[in-house]
Amino acid sequence: MDCIFCKIANGEIPATKVYEDDTVIAFNDLEPQAPTHILVIPKMHITSAADITEENSAVIAHIFEVIAKIAKEQNMDDGFRVVNNCGDSAGQTVKHVHFHLMSGRSFTWPAG
Ligand code: 5GP
Ligand code: ZN
Repeated sequence: MDCIFCKIANGEIPATKVYEDDTVIAFNDLEPQAPTHILVIPKMHITSAADITEENSAVIAHIFEVIAKIAKEQNMDDGFRVVNNCGDSAGQTVKHVHFHLMSGRSFTWPAG
């Protein structure tokens, strides 16, 4: 399967990693939309949030533990935003589920 994020997860494509364990990896977004913009992904290929099931949701729960850990480590005390784009109309361009962790500026709501 030709998946950029699987290739980042297995080291075929380089990325600036900020966290890694057996099941999750986090790395800086190539085109940051905030002073800090990290992508947190499962190492296993899950296409989108619409494909989360009872069988694979443990890694998604773990992603949110990792997000809290990174937020503490990087002193995101003022707050941060977590975004998941699911499907084409939501703007998902990479079809491997990922969570944008953004911080360092104010964010408007509702998101456009
Ligand atoms: P989406 O639009 O699918 O929610 O988010 C995909 C994100 O992946 C975008 O913010 C884009 O900048 C980022 N991205 C795409 N290709 C690469 C890559 O090869 N390396 C890194 N670090 N980020 C990427
Ligand atoms: Zn993948």
